[in-house]
Amino acid sequence: MIKGAHFLVAFVLLALSSSFAFAFDPSPLQDFCVAINDPKDGGYYLRLIPNLIFHAVFVNGKFCRDPMLATANDFSFSGLNIPGNTSNQVGSNVTLLNVDKIPGLNTLGISIARIDFAPYGGLNPPHIHPRATEILVVLEGTLYVGFVTSNPNRLITKVLNAGDVFVFPIGLIHFQFNIGNTNAVAIAGLSSQNPGVITIANAVFGSNPPINPDVLAKAFQLDKNVVNYLQKQFWVNNH
Ligand code: MN
Repeated sequence: MIKGAHFLVAFVLLALSSSFAFAFDPSPLQDFCVAINDPKDGGYYLRLIPNLIFHAVFVNGKFCRDPMLATANDFSFSGLNIPGNTSNQVGSNVTLLNVDKIPGLNTLGISIARIDFAPYGGLNPPHIHPRATEILVVLEGTLYVGFVTSNPNRLITKVLNAGDVFVFPIGLIHFQFNIGNTNAVAIAGLSSQNPGVITIANAVFGSNPPINPDVLAKAFQLDKNVVNYLQKQFWVNNH
């Protein structure tokens, strides 16, 4: 009986520790691991075992380039000074530099984005990053920003001007809205090499295939005609 209890405690501790271990990007065990899509393209470990090349799978992150072949280009990107095109229905544009744009970010748990907002109401609509906290600094303009906590759903907001910084905790719904009469520009750091984004309205009303309208009518307290209308709209991806 006591042995069984000990086993149970050990099992629970093991389960907890492994869930912590896998809850975030893993700490790297090497200086870097420049991402490559094809293990034949400089993947020195797998190159030694030809059969593995064709059976290799992506587990978490990407294959690594031979560190001796890594160059400055693997760790850099040029053009974040160029404004994104905000001519869309929400009036904003996110230029995200994740591991797909900067392969040297692989395993490092960080990425960066430039967000442009059109004057008078450019909106980065309510969205979440399933894998990252976001820290944002306003370079130009005036943004009304906020996030909503998990239940009970408390709204936390602030108006930001140039030089102001704001944090959006991982997984929470958040938004940024240009309330000024000029363009606004912000830079965001994100605590994942691949933060991911789920734009709430797009996911709910613009999924493919569509969610059964009865589900959305009840969930959002809407007439089914309104749900049908919303499901017919074009939900822009501002990324
Ligand atoms: Mn965000």
